[in-house]
Amino acid sequence: MEKMTAAQARQVEAIGKHVRLEGWLRTRRDSKGGFSFLELNDGTCLGNVQVVAPAALPNYESEIKKLPVGASVRITGEVKQSPAKGQPTEIHADRVELVGTADPEKYPLQKKGHSFEFLRTIAHLRPRTNTFGAVMRVRNRISKSIHDFFQERGFLYVHAPIITASDCEGAGQMFKVTTLDLNKVPRAEGAVDYGQDFFHRPSFLTVSGQLEAEIFACSLGLVYTFGPTFRAENSNTPRHLAEFWMVEPEMAFYDLNDNMDLAEAFIKRLIKDALEHQAEDMQFFQERVDKEIIARLEGVLKHDFVRLSYTEAIEILLKSGQQWQFPVSWGTDLQSEHERYLSEQHFKKPVILFDYPKGIKSFYMRLNEDGKTVRAMDVLVPGVGEIIGGSQREERLDVLEARMKEMNLDPEAYWWYLDLRRYGTVPHAGFGLGLERTVQFITGMANIRDVIPCPRTPGSAEF
Ligand code: ATP
Ligand code: MN
Repeated sequence: MEKMTAAQARQVEAIGKHVRLEGWLRTRRDSKGGFSFLELNDGTCLGNVQVVAPAALPNYESEIKKLPVGASVRITGEVKQSPAKGQPTEIHADRVELVGTADPEKYPLQKKGHSFEFLRTIAHLRPRTNTFGAVMRVRNRISKSIHDFFQERGFLYVHAPIITASDCEGAGQMFKVTTLDLNKVPRAEGAVDYGQDFFHRPSFLTVSGQLEAEIFACSLGLVYTFGPTFRAENSNTPRHLAEFWMVEPEMAFYDLNDNMDLAEAFIKRLIKDALEHQAEDMQFFQERVDKEIIARLEGVLKHDFVRLSYTEAIEILLKSGQQWQFPVSWGTDLQSEHERYLSEQHFKKPVILFDYPKGIKSFYMRLNEDGKTVRAMDVLVPGVGEIIGGSQREERLDVLEARMKEMNLDPEAYWWYLDLRRYGTVPHAGFGLGLERTVQFITGMANIRDVIPCPRTPGSAEF
């Protein structure tokens, strides 16, 4: 006897085999003809395995006919071709064993059709729903494709630290990491005495692995990081989490155009793999979550991304005749409403904006000849807005130092970063792609809290 997953047992190749299967009961239907039909799901695929349990089984009356939704069960039986539509196989059970029951009076997923809001309050049980199972499988596929894409191109996976002492990368508000007793904070000359803290200096949860990735790009060439990042901003939006995952490739001898080419190929690959390898899950999102999702993604694959300077984008926004909540003018940061207008309504495809005003971007982005803009790029996609932020980095030591002073950063604190420009400096570039926004983009899920296992947002961190 072979132990099988539901995904395997649903393949025609399994027909004729005697198998063992374990999972959770989704529905039970008792027919008058002396059978019960059990729909079993073990998370390996969206579709359930249909199990036919004959009344002749010794525990039929005592157990099988009472199996509650949500119970875990173990069955053995023969895989047969199914006469029913929508499933190629079914299993004729010779044994059905209850492993763990689920009180029908209390099991919260007894009925279907709960709202995503409600499911967030039972985040430990929501992976048992079709939607979250599909989200988790697509998220897994995207993670695999991320590694495949870079590994196939010879990129090295670098593990950036999660605890960092670089406190002003400009990417966002940081969480402090400390072992000081908050009831008895040591002080020296009025200020907190970090000399007594664990690292003898202020330290934080990382907002980005970029600066560390640059170290490795400037020695090993093509690298990427992929790990959790943290932002302590109080942003309660459907696109922000306090803890999220980011992929950050960093490439020596790449300019901004190379960077854009890579970003476009990368996003297209993630979409292509999801459509190809998670077809059943994607069909589900199309039917239940977003009727346009597959057509939109196929459209993205077919066309080149629009590439547009920030200055041209501002002109389009000013001429759009739209009423903005946040007014537009050259020099201000684009808000989600502007980003989405450009990619969703104006161009109806992904847009790469580049050459942003230096005043709204980080110190490390390469200054253009005009002295006003930097070689930044953001990739904006329909439905989500910004999914990637990146740039060509400033590789000229004198320009970088001048920029840091202009932005009131202490070059001393970045001595190691400046060393990369002191010794064998190279033009280089990179970007950061938010994993959860990518999962939203590919599945059509509207709220970022619903595409991560354990969402962390202001005021909310269960288990
Ligand atoms: P936004 O302007 O949307 O807040 P950002 O410009 O602060 O984002 P970057 O620092 O450029 O973001 O980070 C790179 C990518 O990481 C973003 O393009 C996005 O995909 C993702 N990202 C950034 N902040 C968050 C967050 N709080 N939650 C989830 N993903 C995020
Ligand atoms: Mn950004």
